[in-house]
Amino acid sequence: MKAVRIHQFGGPEVLTYEDVADPRPRKDEVLVRVRACALNHLDVWVRKGLPGVTLPHILGSDIAGEIVELGEYVGEFPVGGFKTGQRVLLAPMHFCGHCPKCVAGLQNQCREFTVLGNAVDGGNCELIAIPAASVIAIPDTLDFDQAASVPLVFVTAWHMLVTRAGVRPGQTVLVLGASSGVGIAAIQIAKLFRCRVITTAGDETKLEKARALGADFGINHYQQKISDEVRKITNKAGVDIVVEHVGPATWDESVKSLKSSGSLVTCGATTGPDVKIDLRHLFARQLTLLGSYMGTMADLHEVLGHVFAGRLKPVVDRVFPLKDLRAAHEYLEKSQMFGKIVVNP
Ligand SMILES: [Zn+2]
Repeated sequence: MKAVRIHQFGGPEVLTYEDVADPRPRKDEVLVRVRACALNHLDVWVRKGLPGVTLPHILGSDIAGEIVELGEYVGEFPVGGFKTGQRVLLAPMHFCGHCPKCVAGLQNQCREFTVLGNAVDGGNCELIAIPAASVIAIPDTLDFDQAASVPLVFVTAWHMLVTRAGVRPGQTVLVLGASSGVGIAAIQIAKLFRCRVITTAGDETKLEKARALGADFGINHYQQKISDEVRKITNKAGVDIVVEHVGPATWDESVKSLKSSGSLVTCGATTGPDVKIDLRHLFARQLTLLGSYMGTMADLHEVLGHVFAGRLKPVVDRVFPLKDLRAAHEYLEKSQMFGKIVVNP
């Protein structure tokens, strides 16, 4: 098959379109022909070099495609109902499936937990062999590019807002980075819970698109101070929940934007890993700081129910051919997109 692999870490130039051996499914696996694979910032981190990545390596976490072949044991599942030619998306989470955490449904706490395309090969290729538990049928209303744009960011945003921060109807939620995949998902999930949503972006075009997704207020983070605007919008009260993934560039503003007993939930560190916290604010205002990493299979199935019913919508920005993955990475790193960048093998 054709695949894009990296043989060394570095810039987009290390992405190499080449022939590799077809994968063979184990007896408990399904062989899927990849029709679309969405990019995430994780792809850039892995390309630049992360521990645990063995070279050569195939990037790509978000995959949609068609079933080509069922492993011997998969065909025996009476409930799975898989058949060849079926349109599916793949859960981006990789886990052992049999440790105490996995069998308790807490796959993102498994010691073997990783993401497709991170410590294991991903979907920047034509064929992938994947455990049957990770294969999920998609409705005809979603094309492959849309389906590939869903899993990682929607499961991440659902786990952050619903599972970790316990969002409740009517709360006020501040979503950092409206144009990011997690931002687009978090805005819509917060609106699903009838929340008031404030979001941030770097230009008016992106803020307009965020309002079209349901955001009630937009803050231009280059021209306005986030916490000042939040104070005005909330009549000095602050927000119940901040959805963070930016890091040092916004952290202080995010903490300042919280109301007393508010929660900040974070899933990323796009602008760096080190932030400060004033302990006097943390205890006196009784704030909660929550870490969140991907999500569980239960989170994924729950959020997909809303996507498949049309209540949550994937946003595709631009589609590239797989052989032009370098151009797709360069486009991703310019951060001009609103929504997901997708490649087609
Ligand atoms: Zn496990």
